[in-house]
Amino acid sequence: MSLFDWFANRRKTGPIGKERQEREIADGLWTKCESCSVLTYTKDLRANQMVCLDCGHHLRVFSDERIRQLADANTWTPIDEALKSMDPLKFRDRKTYSDRLREMQEKTGLIDAVQTGIAKLESLPIALGVMDFRFMGGSMGSVVGEKLTRLIERGTRERLPVIIVCASGGARMQEGMLSLMQMAKISGALSRHQEARLLYIPVLTHPTTGGVTASFAMLGDIILAEPKATIGFAGRRVVEQTLREKLPEGFQSAEYLLQHGFVDAIVPRTQLKKTLAQLIRLHQPAAQSSRFGVHVAEMAPTPPRHLGGPKTELV
Ligand SMILES: [Zn+2]
Repeated sequence: MSLFDWFANRRKTGPIGKERQEREIADGLWTKCESCSVLTYTKDLRANQMVCLDCGHHLRVFSDERIRQLADANTWTPIDEALKSMDPLKFRDRKTYSDRLREMQEKTGLIDAVQTGIAKLESLPIALGVMDFRFMGGSMGSVVGEKLTRLIERGTRERLPVIIVCASGGARMQEGMLSLMQMAKISGALSRHQEARLLYIPVLTHPTTGGVTASFAMLGDIILAEPKATIGFAGRRVVEQTLREKLPEGFQSAEYLLQHGFVDAIVPRTQLKKTLAQLIRLHQPAAQSSRFGVHVAEMAPTPPRHLGGPKTELV
């Protein structure tokens, strides 16, 4: 077929029909923005970190994509990948919890709602946790709690900054009390990380709610959020019914929280990696920023007494 024929054939098929368009969306070739409805070539959208090129809306990003955005290429080393829930309560609603878990695992390829690991961000070593909203609404059960706790403890041991990208509907009701206990466990680990004078930055993405907000999402040294993310504890309706009060417009948005001091900065996704790197560099012990020519011995922070870890890395 000549090139001319090819173009002639192509013209015959006419503009993209609605049916074909929908098929291509389903195939993932094109993605429709939830905010402005503009269709964008998925490849272009991914290159812009899933931020709409037309209106700037931040489309939802799941853990693999997020890790790809934040970690330098080939530096991600996952930890505790095999941890899975034991369903100790033998919980059952319309389905049994263990069936639900299995279905989710097949659908997402994840074992639970968070991925944790060690990575480099602009060449800076970090301990990174990324929640995944696809997996039962990013709910926090014993696996999410344990994985994050171990990540933070590793960060403390190896003197790494911890970054957790939050996306969660809250505690996982199928694990009842055991889910709620994770809040205290993670908070305890974070407190020891802080005593070691290390940096922790949670990144609140849409949506961050419930037990996650009530624990590690709000315990950061610096709390970042994505534009227009919903951040709250209980849902709007529940709060209104409890308080018997009408809540203000935009209540529980990242912007509202910034105005009221719960969030330190709203960072567009396209700027997130750069901003995190800047914050980490600013908080690094002077020993590691040798390019400023600082005298190492004087500026290195005193390692806390209760940590028996190696001290040589400061020199
Ligand atoms: Zn848009």
